[in-house]
Amino acid sequence: MSTDLGSQKWVYAFSEGDGSDKQLLGGKGANLCEMTQIGLNVPPGFVITTQACLHFLDSGSKSVPEDMMSQVREHMALVEQATGKGFGDPENPLLVSVRSGSAMSMPGMMDTILNLGLNADTLRGEIEQTGDARFGYDAYRRFIQLFGKVAMGVPDEAFDTEFEAVKQAANVTEDVGLSADDLKEISERFLKVFKEQTGRAFPEDPFEQLEIAIKAVFGSWMGKRAIDYRTQFKITQDMANGTAVNICTMVFGNRGDDSATGVAFTRNPGTGEDKLYGEYLVNAQGEDVVAGIRTPKPIHQLAVEMPEMARQLDELRDKLEAHYKEVQDFEFTIERGVLYCLQTRNGKMNAVGMVRTSVEMVKSGLLSKEQALLRIDPMYLEQMLYPRLSPDFKGEPIAQGLPASPGAASGYAIFDADRAEIQGNDMGRPVILVREETKPEDIHGFFASQGILTSRGGKTSHAAVVARGMGKPCVAGAEGIRVDVQRREAHVGNQLIREGDMITIDGSSGNVYLGEVAMVEPEFSDELKKLLQWADDAADLHVMANADTPSDAARALKFGARGIGLCRTERMFNAVERLPVVIEMIVADDEAQRQVALDKLLPMQRADFRGLFETMAPYPVTIRLLDPPIHEFLPSERQLLNDIEQLKHLRDSARGMEVLSGSMMLLDGDMAGLTKDAVKQIVSPDMVEKAISKKAQMLQKVRDLTEVNPMLGHRGVRLGITFPEIYRMQIRAILEAEAECVAKGLEVRPQMMVPQVCTAAELRWIKGYVDEVRADVESKSGQKLNCRFGTMIEVVRACMRAERLAEEAEFFSFGTNDLTQAVFSFSREDAENKFLPMYNRSDILHDNPFEVLDTKGVGKLMELAVQWGRQVKPDLSVGICGEHGGHPSSIAFCHKAKLNYVSCSGPRVPVARLAAAHAALKA
Ligand code: ADP
Ligand code: MG
Ligand code: MG
Repeated sequence: MSTDLGSQKWVYAFSEGDGSDKQLLGGKGANLCEMTQIGLNVPPGFVITTQACLHFLDSGSKSVPEDMMSQVREHMALVEQATGKGFGDPENPLLVSVRSGSAMSMPGMMDTILNLGLNADTLRGEIEQTGDARFGYDAYRRFIQLFGKVAMGVPDEAFDTEFEAVKQAANVTEDVGLSADDLKEISERFLKVFKEQTGRAFPEDPFEQLEIAIKAVFGSWMGKRAIDYRTQFKITQDMANGTAVNICTMVFGNRGDDSATGVAFTRNPGTGEDKLYGEYLVNAQGEDVVAGIRTPKPIHQLAVEMPEMARQLDELRDKLEAHYKEVQDFEFTIERGVLYCLQTRNGKMNAVGMVRTSVEMVKSGLLSKEQALLRIDPMYLEQMLYPRLSPDFKGEPIAQGLPASPGAASGYAIFDADRAEIQGNDMGRPVILVREETKPEDIHGFFASQGILTSRGGKTSHAAVVARGMGKPCVAGAEGIRVDVQRREAHVGNQLIREGDMITIDGSSGNVYLGEVAMVEPEFSDELKKLLQWADDAADLHVMANADTPSDAARALKFGARGIGLCRTERMFNAVERLPVVIEMIVADDEAQRQVALDKLLPMQRADFRGLFETMAPYPVTIRLLDPPIHEFLPSERQLLNDIEQLKHLRDSARGMEVLSGSMMLLDGDMAGLTKDAVKQIVSPDMVEKAISKKAQMLQKVRDLTEVNPMLGHRGVRLGITFPEIYRMQIRAILEAEAECVAKGLEVRPQMMVPQVCTAAELRWIKGYVDEVRADVESKSGQKLNCRFGTMIEVVRACMRAERLAEEAEFFSFGTNDLTQAVFSFSREDAENKFLPMYNRSDILHDNPFEVLDTKGVGKLMELAVQWGRQVKPDLSVGICGEHGGHPSSIAFCHKAKLNYVSCSGPRVPVARLAAAHAALKA
């Protein structure tokens, strides 16, 4: 802090303060200055700086800076000049409001004191001036209460009791029914309350009143309410430090029927409609509108009641927007036919409103396209792209888990995938699949459900990843829920959810509710389309989508994806009718047997790829060859052991059946009608025996395939090299699909990429398959094929060897999920479930690197890889397909690192398009 305090300026007149310095003057103060300086009718006043507040707090909340009050007096003199009134002058009293305001808006945090400057003498003057005793006493009692409460901490109830007592005695129900004498009586009682509660008489000297009030506002910055609010909303000192105090000449909306007070938005914040939106009250003072004592009227009424005022209000609205170039949320007061503006700030709107106003403000010339794009936070668009709970819904959640996949859904709770399929697909009912955790064999349940709820697992659990891929809402790891699959029910505390009970999940917040909740459907409006068009024009990065099926691809296309950056072929393997074939392939004892299964898979994959190519033509479709360790397609060892045991019981029962059938002739009565064969047919021991041996074979395979570190084990390109026939089948499926499309005259752009590559030799090896299969497909089809060949970069060594890899690859795609794990040597699941939250809380790591790209470490490697790769191949196309590809700050980094594209989940595409534009415009 400066030692030369004597010369510091603590106070700024509204006519001199710098409207852009919100840190010093607070948001409210800065805007009062700005509005004054652009000629709007703001009652004269001044701002005491946040610096003065910090100084006061530094002194242990004891003293204000030495010369602050003298500066306040100088400025008060200026206000007296401007208004022709005197502060404390009984003849013509000047009254002021004392209003807090920090750099960040913290609504309702520190209350405003109105009518300061009133005492026994000035009250008399005020009454004489206005000729309105009722008004005078009304102002007085409000002031005593506000001053008592805000500045001295007197509880409202103490005042309210007296207020009610007088009201009862006067036999009135509404405040407006109180007479001047009633209000006089009330103010006298209030003065007594003040004395009882504070132990001192009500201060009469206006400057003493003022100093106490200023100190109280300063002190409130460190009050519990304010501190809690800042903690809750993560408001740091860089964002707001200390509060300013605004001293503003009082204007009165309660001077009769030609007076009013109101609040308005320059445009409708819900829909964005270009029309004044707000409410007002005739003959009322500021806080009455918010307090809800009387019901305010909609703003369009004003044109009927006070046409001239309505015209001036429209003018004010235009001036505000023309100056701020942003929708404003403002307060106004009309005192006897004169309109004053008391506050303005940027209006908080929902995404729909933001988008519409952006487009319309460009059309009317208020904003440039760039400004229109930059005023919207890309993440904000998510709101529009998923169904969400109605904003009117106020219910309490019964449980909370992780917000694992955005959007909300209601449906009947169903506890296993098969039953979900029956209820969802066959009966067409909305279903929420509720599981402890999910596995690949539950996939059909996902397709049949509106949303997924699990009681275990993190944001990267199977449920979360698959749901995100499908764009379905998911709440994962809701640990408060105990799922009992056997009984088909779940317990939450002492509540019971039975199969078929309606529940609602909100995958954007992680909340779970009982019953159905009204939803707001997503809308991809024409305005949003237009805005994103501008974004594409401004951006350098292309935005592609991660999509595994033609329907995902079609949706991504609708969201404006310019290609598929990642298609995970294993998702196709997981489809219900295919899993058995995939398992057959895995458990095969030799290559010949495996080929039989692969021959069945080939046409299925070819059809998948063709569907994708056709949907996306002429955009690129990037297919990743099989990546996960193959044991992931098999049931767990525990599951198999369990099945085998059950089957053994069944085998014993089946033997019993044989005995029974042999004994048929000894029976009579009900069973006599059954033939021996019929009994035998129900379950034959042979069949059970076969099932047991099949399961045993699988069990053996599962055990063979067990790895200590599957994620670092036999997967990706390693799999492709050790089981060449699997990759060859996929390569063939891709190339044959291309040939079929080309034959139909379609312009398609297939790309294949190899996962987990760490050396150029691996890439060359796989390229060998491609060359061979391509020659064969080309010669058989007579078509020339263009499929491009690239590599994932998701291993540290691949970054270091980017030059060599670029010799083999036509494109790079950063798989930043795996790359982040590799660079940190963290396994994501363990990190997120165990130590990362603590790391983030204590700022050892500022962000979760799996959500926000670690530009300093992982990003550094990426930059090197891009640079080295392009040294060899200057036109090397480079993209990112990890989850980071949909995160705005990571996208900004990708722009800086000169990537060509980002790829993210379909519904994230609009967010990424806007973020890509921001990155280019801010560069
Ligand atoms: P908040 O930050 O809670 O909006 P304000 O300082 O804006 O607090 O004031 C609370 C209410 O008092 C508002 O309705 C405002 O319009 C009114 N008000 C504040 N100062 C004055 C004034 N000088 N004249 C008339 N009304 C005022
Ligand atoms: Mg206000
Ligand atoms: Mg990977």
